[in-house]
Amino acid sequence: MPGGEEMSPGEALRTARIAVDQHMTKKLDDEHMWHEETATDILLSTASPRIRYKAFGKDHEKEHGADWLWCWVDRDGTTFCLLVQAKILKRAPSGKRWTIDFAYKTRGDKEHRPQISKLIAASDRYEAAAAYVLYCGDPEYRATLECDRRHDGAPCRERQRVGVSAVSALVAENAVTYYGRDAGVAAFHTAVPVEDIAGSDNLDTPIVPLTRGLPEDLAHFLRQPQRGARRAAKELLRPVEQIRAGQFSTATLERAAPAAGALFPDLPADRGHFSVPYLSHMLRGLRAETPGYVRDVMEGRTPPAWVTAHLAGIVLVTDADAQPATGGWIADSASGPVENRTSSAMTPGTRGAA
Ligand SMILES: [Zn+2]
Repeated sequence: MPGGEEMSPGEALRTARIAVDQHMTKKLDDEHMWHEETATDILLSTASPRIRYKAFGKDHEKEHGADWLWCWVDRDGTTFCLLVQAKILKRAPSGKRWTIDFAYKTRGDKEHRPQISKLIAASDRYEAAAAYVLYCGDPEYRATLECDRRHDGAPCRERQRVGVSAVSALVAENAVTYYGRDAGVAAFHTAVPVEDIAGSDNLDTPIVPLTRGLPEDLAHFLRQPQRGARRAAKELLRPVEQIRAGQFSTATLERAAPAAGALFPDLPADRGHFSVPYLSHMLRGLRAETPGYVRDVMEGRTPPAWVTAHLAGIVLVTDADAQPATGGWIADSASGPVENRTSSAMTPGTRGAA
């Protein structure tokens, strides 16, 4: 990987996110919308070679959309697998409504299952967590977005770096169930810049679990700063845990069925208002060893057909726990949360590129 080794995954994805931002801004200037596939292509090709990707072809798209399996692989083999579907934050022509097409039903789908349940079911195959990557345009595009939820920093529409962001499928499911026509805004509100999930360059604050009496290794994972694969899993779990903490139902003390090969096999079966036991769904993707089909891609082999037939491809974040390079990126992140810089958001010349 010449030229890419010095970068942290977060830095590679930050560069890639900026390229996607620029693409979305150009399309908007041309009075067009961008496409999920094009945005993903720009994201992955710009993040390469630090982040590698292997595409498997196009037939899967009829059935599954263009799902990619993202895999963070640490130097000791610890791996986090995340099944990712791309979506667009869409503005209605009136400019007043914002939607993300989570509940889209494929034409002729006899089961009428919403895509979210399909994505969660599909993630079972890889024992992965499921998530959406959201392509959300630039702050000028989002200028009329009204979010009535509480904001610690800037309101949603003014946040920087969220043009490409990610949210767990469980968060999306919760948004669809409880926010109805405002589900898109609710999910966007909770989405995290993709570079923060992939990277480990920013502060990692503790997660306070609802469930008491967790296994000590899991409690330690939630409490202590993490890097690499563990950090990616933790950043996606964080909003899910926050939603669970806001639900007025008692956490069950039952244990979920142990997941073979998982770093934390012994997890509570508590599901709150989610459709599946949330800790086990989020953390089953965190594996003590790298799955064989991921090793196949790492070592230049084609994975088995049961993997390739159902995926757009695999994204590989190797050495996910490597220390970030010294220099501008660290200075940049140490200067404070970028999303709280609000005043420059609408200034000409800074559109799209934070
Ligand atoms: Zn908001």
